[in-house]
Amino acid sequence: MKVDLLLTGADFITLDPRQPRARWLAVHGERIVAAGTDPAEAPKGYRTVELGGTTVVPGFHDAHNHTVQYGLALRHVDLKSSQVRTLDELYRRVRNAADRQPAGSWIVGEAYDQNVLGAHPDLAVLDRAAPDHYVQLTHKSRHMCFVNSAVIDALDLQDAPDPMGGTVQRGPDGRPTGLLLESAMELLRPLTWPASLPAMVDAISSAHARYLAEGLTAVQEAGVGAGLAGSSPLEAYAFQVAREQGDLRVRTTLMPVNAGAEPIRGANSDDVFGFGLGLRNGFGDPWLRIGPMKVFSDGSLIGRSAALNDGYHEDPCNHGMLAMEPVDLHAVLRAAHRSGWQTATHAIGDRALDAVLDCYERILAETPRADHRHRVEHAGVAGPDAVTRLIRLGLIPDPQGRFITEIGDGMIEALGPDRIGWCYRSRSWVDAGIELPGSSDRPVVDGAPLLGIHDMVNRRTASGLVLGADESLTPLQALRAYTYGSAHATFLEEDMGMLGSGRLADLTVLSDDLTTIAPERIRDIEVVATFVGGAAAHDPQHLAEQAAPCI
Ligand SMILES: [Zn+2]
Repeated sequence: MKVDLLLTGADFITLDPRQPRARWLAVHGERIVAAGTDPAEAPKGYRTVELGGTTVVPGFHDAHNHTVQYGLALRHVDLKSSQVRTLDELYRRVRNAADRQPAGSWIVGEAYDQNVLGAHPDLAVLDRAAPDHYVQLTHKSRHMCFVNSAVIDALDLQDAPDPMGGTVQRGPDGRPTGLLLESAMELLRPLTWPASLPAMVDAISSAHARYLAEGLTAVQEAGVGAGLAGSSPLEAYAFQVAREQGDLRVRTTLMPVNAGAEPIRGANSDDVFGFGLGLRNGFGDPWLRIGPMKVFSDGSLIGRSAALNDGYHEDPCNHGMLAMEPVDLHAVLRAAHRSGWQTATHAIGDRALDAVLDCYERILAETPRADHRHRVEHAGVAGPDAVTRLIRLGLIPDPQGRFITEIGDGMIEALGPDRIGWCYRSRSWVDAGIELPGSSDRPVVDGAPLLGIHDMVNRRTASGLVLGADESLTPLQALRAYTYGSAHATFLEEDMGMLGSGRLADLTVLSDDLTTIAPERIRDIEVVATFVGGAAAHDPQHLAEQAAPCI
């Protein structure tokens, strides 16, 4: 039999236990039909692509990502600490934007970090930088933001009570300082939310072009439709439009936020908890589908809003905040579980993690379900007891390797020396037999998967400290997380995550073998090409075009 495409001339790291390494891969339609080591056994292909001594791995898959927020942020003022290291520079960038934009428009800044700047912005100085605009500066954690007086006045925030799970920070005079924490950011919504459909489609399109260049072939959207992570109630609609227009170029699993879910009445005992029509995770196809229900239980560590049992190192009276009362969290998780949902609950601090574990202890005792794959997003601070409980309950933690480099120094400050070994564990989970996913939480940090893999292996902070050396993964374990592990975390492992017969031909071509290169050089590896469903989706060297038609 002749196949559509034969890929040769590379070392294929398949992650398929039956054949971990291959020298050729045969693709027919969208799927891999065979792989082998002996060139003499390769079938003939209508096209043969010679990959020039590269290394090929299953396509990278980010299990926790925010495409629309990232794509929208590409158009905002960049305040990342790599660009902006002083408050003066932050104000200068806001002033520049004010000079360019019409009065009365929004200036949105992205990713300032008070850990680097020394402090949050000052309201009076910010007001002078942009007196005629609305200003919103989003914190790097995306769990808080800073607004100017124009926004405070337009929304009457002077008198706004704090919402559950949020704070309008106030000075000694009782006036808002400009800082809005956690759910208080939702007070901005009358002015800023939802994003428009064309803006979201455009955001998806520009984000996916970058993802393919980084070797990503699949992502999971950790919160769409509602809540802090959602950009619009029409977010799923935007992904559908993007697909119809040919702009959905990376396979996407959507995690709807629980805030949009409700009890749906069926007949008699058929009632379920979920979204319109009773759709739930698994609905769709590998290009666009519904994944777990996303639930929030607390905030962020570097923003000092993650819920901690023993408080913050330099501020022990601050224990962070829970996004929901434990009784409400239990009700949501229980209803979702009993309605057949897989859930993915954001829990960073150990107090939030304990609350989630308490819930699942009760829920799984009451209604056991084999292979539920309920997830804990981040599991940022996990003490020894929590590790044991999480493993026993069969939950899947989803830590972000890249957090260690970009915000690890801030996490060390927040936690102090005693708890730092509990932070963003990886090895503890893998050694316990958990199929660990790989993810970035982009745009919180740079989402390039090779950076995430590098950091899961090296665990070095920006200042050069190694954070929890015991929690390092081997390069092969980190690769598995960012491919097979992520697929498994959303029940897609039969379709992707391995280069084996029957799976989708989603693969990433790399300049070097990440399992043999020096670990500190993994981040320097280049993505040579990216194939999705057997088609070259990113191919700057035109490898696929030079394919020899085989007669
Ligand atoms: Zn997230």
